Amino acid sequence: MERTYVSDAVSAVGRRILVQGFVDNLRDSKNMAFIVLKDITGKIQITIEKEAHPELCPAIAQLSEDSVISVIGNVTPNDYVKLNGVEVIPESIRIESVAEALPIARKAIPATKKKKAVERSSIDQRIDYRWIDLRTDENQLMFQIQTAMVNSMRQFLLNQNFLEIHTPKLIGAASESGADVFEVKYFDRNAYLAQSPQFYKQMAMASGFERIFEVGPVFRAEKSNTNRHTTEFTGFDLEFSYIDSYQDVMDMEAKLLTHMLGEISQRFGSRIKETFGTDVIVPTLPFPTIDLADLYEELEKKYGYTVDESEKGDLTTWAEQLSYRWVRQTYGHEFLFVTGFDAEKRAFYHMRDENGVPMGYDLIWRGVEITTGAQREHRYDVLKKQAAEKGLEEDVRFYLEFFKYGCPPHGGFGIGIDRLTMLLLNLGIKDAMFLFRGPNRLHP
Ligand code: ATP
Repeated sequence: MERTYVSDAVSAVGRRILVQGFVDNLRDSKNMAFIVLKDITGKIQITIEKEAHPELCPAIAQLSEDSVISVIGNVTPNDYVKLNGVEVIPESIRIESVAEALPIARKAIPATKKKKAVERSSIDQRIDYRWIDLRTDENQLMFQIQTAMVNSMRQFLLNQNFLEIHTPKLIGAASESGADVFEVKYFDRNAYLAQSPQFYKQMAMASGFERIFEVGPVFRAEKSNTNRHTTEFTGFDLEFSYIDSYQDVMDMEAKLLTHMLGEISQRFGSRIKETFGTDVIVPTLPFPTIDLADLYEELEKKYGYTVDESEKGDLTTWAEQLSYRWVRQTYGHEFLFVTGFDAEKRAFYHMRDENGVPMGYDLIWRGVEITTGAQREHRYDVLKKQAAEKGLEEDVRFYLEFFKYGCPPHGGFGIGIDRLTMLLLNLGIKDAMFLFRGPNRLHP
């Protein structure tokens, strides 16, 4: 018999159906048993009148919450049932898998007359058993939203002649900065895990692909224990050719995010508010932009925030956070492009203007960096010189070759998908990932 999803079962009144899923809730009393069955589309009540169906009683006696069952029965209307006013009256219940008592508390359980209150397990305990934690409505909603988010961005780009590519993650030389790279054994020599698809995105420009994007893993050997850093995350990276300046890159990103948030707001806005208690705000175009030096001036003037001169070439974490307050007060906006970083703090492949200032930006959303973007240096000689200045000429020799035989002007950016999810739903990074990886976390 073909399986019916719960979302379809609730409107299948009068029909005999097969539903399959986890036991979300179980109440087993002397005469009646009530099972709430949950699949990825919703929940439905299974009601058993024990006296009328003694053959079902042995299965019910074995059941526990989170066990997996297959139920064949009739969908019957019942106004007393809270879940959509229908219930399934089963003719058979097959146990696919019995769940032992759960090792974590996914939610806090308030005290009852008979039982003490149970505290919610910490996020680290829940990650130990992440597959059990991921069964909750909130987590499953989160991944439906993340799927929609990535899909929306993908469609936006496909409609504008972008190609989706898949670049290698095993690379022969420690790239970019040389730091923060994982070294792995590669037969009789060493390889490195890609810190970003940067070099290969640019190779695609030299290949004449013109517009490309990639959604893929990014590895960072950073020992940061913050609520926004992880050693492996998913990057949404894109690169496109024949731009006039990095302004084109910023415009592309602002439009991409506005489009995506518009779709998310429409499809999930009210559920996000209900479940995560936060509003999805669709931004207006253009996004506000400020020069880094001006931002520091503003933060000092408005909030008395000062930093040492030596730190002013980059955004400090505090400045990042404060900039959210500033951009909301000044523009009523949640996004802020910051430009004018110090060349010393930026990658060698960012194109620089006549004053040596990198033609790139960071995008800050709700006080957290979500993107670095730039026009790239595509002129071989200049690029080689900039690499040499950072002492990287040898390491990036293979990459420099991409620019020797013709390459269009281009630029691009990378967005961290996990950061987007986390900021959209007001969570920490560990909560927002399918499975977090950090300095002390390689399992499960
Ligand atoms: P940060 O300053 O926050 O450490 P970064 O400057 O190293 O970030 P980039 O190299 O520009 O970041 O990477 C592009 C994007 O990838 C970032 O804007 C962010 O969204 C995401 N990202 C970078 N590092 C991490 C990380 N360790 N964990 C999760 N996401 C990250």
